Amino acid sequence: MARAYNFCAGPAALPEEVLFQAQEEIANWHGVGCSVMEMSHRSDEFVSIADEATQDFKDLLAIGDDYEVLFVQGGASSQFSMVPLNLLSDKTTADYVNTGQWSKKAISEAKRYCDVNVVASSEAENFTTVPDFDQWALSKDAAYLHYTPNETIGGVEFDFIPNVDAPLVADYSSSILSEPLDVSKFGLIYAGAQKNIGPAGLTIVIVRKDLLGKAKDFTPTMFDYQVHAKAGSMNNTPPTYAWYLSGLVFKWLKRQGGLKEMAEINKRKADKLYGYIDQSDFYSNPVDPRYRSRMNVPFVLADDQLDSKFLQKAEEARLLNLAGHRSVGGMRASIYNAVPERAVDALIDFMKAFEKDYA
Ligand code: PMP
Repeated sequence: MARAYNFCAGPAALPEEVLFQAQEEIANWHGVGCSVMEMSHRSDEFVSIADEATQDFKDLLAIGDDYEVLFVQGGASSQFSMVPLNLLSDKTTADYVNTGQWSKKAISEAKRYCDVNVVASSEAENFTTVPDFDQWALSKDAAYLHYTPNETIGGVEFDFIPNVDAPLVADYSSSILSEPLDVSKFGLIYAGAQKNIGPAGLTIVIVRKDLLGKAKDFTPTMFDYQVHAKAGSMNNTPPTYAWYLSGLVFKWLKRQGGLKEMAEINKRKADKLYGYIDQSDFYSNPVDPRYRSRMNVPFVLADDQLDSKFLQKAEEARLLNLAGHRSVGGMRASIYNAVPERAVDALIDFMKAFEKDYA
């Protein structure tokens, strides 16, 4: 059977071109006689793969020399601990914005290490919006401010970068590389790879160099950013294949025209899908239109008795992984960079036909 359209929130769709390239190179990379998976991470070949991927990533986001880019393991969830362990330094308070399930997880982990000041929360609105920046109760002496620019489960995305005095820390797991970003506004950005970067098992951290070297004494070695920075992310064996495959994705993004071009395509895809949902009485999206995510589009059917039928029929139509997160139910279409516009068109056609048959 042909490949289907995959709307999974993560691990998510990868560009087909990249998969075929990896397939071609899998057993014998560039004639060296073995797979990237079988190479020493210290070999000239792998070091060249890693360096090129890192440079392409820096090029895409125009990252300056005052930042380190780290390729680490442990998922974005490990960053929930690594951020406070490394950035608190001699401070005891950190500011957090609570806009959804991922913010909440970051907050609860940070509470192990410091006083967390929740500057604003949209929990009372069931995480369907972003609290007005004017109303945020910022601390005077926070070590940093942490927020989640795109909440993958709720489908809520910031349309602004908070302007605060403390170093800004952002969990960009589900929207990195979806549009150009002014990295210079941030102290630290992290992202699990399995949505808009590459396969699971890799997490990328972009950290301003002046924030390094201040980890708490009891920080596990592998949780210390400085250790990774000094070792070029090779203090131990890095996730070599995920790093390589992400490198292929970065080249693919460059071939598409870079992040400006991706931003236009992503906007078009999201506008189409929300446009269709909004004009229908059969489907709805609960998020404040200003803060609707361009990457994750949750929607519900007017009659939730039809949910399982919808998912079954969608799968038959080769539209995969449209179930909402297990904590919220309903549907969710994740439309990351690698989900082509024709997949969104196919989804809308399917939704129209389903509405016609079941409304
Ligand atoms: N933050 C966000 C915004 C996410 O979407 C996810 C994963 N869905 C995580 C953190 C956790 O990532 P991981 O599974 O890599 O730990």
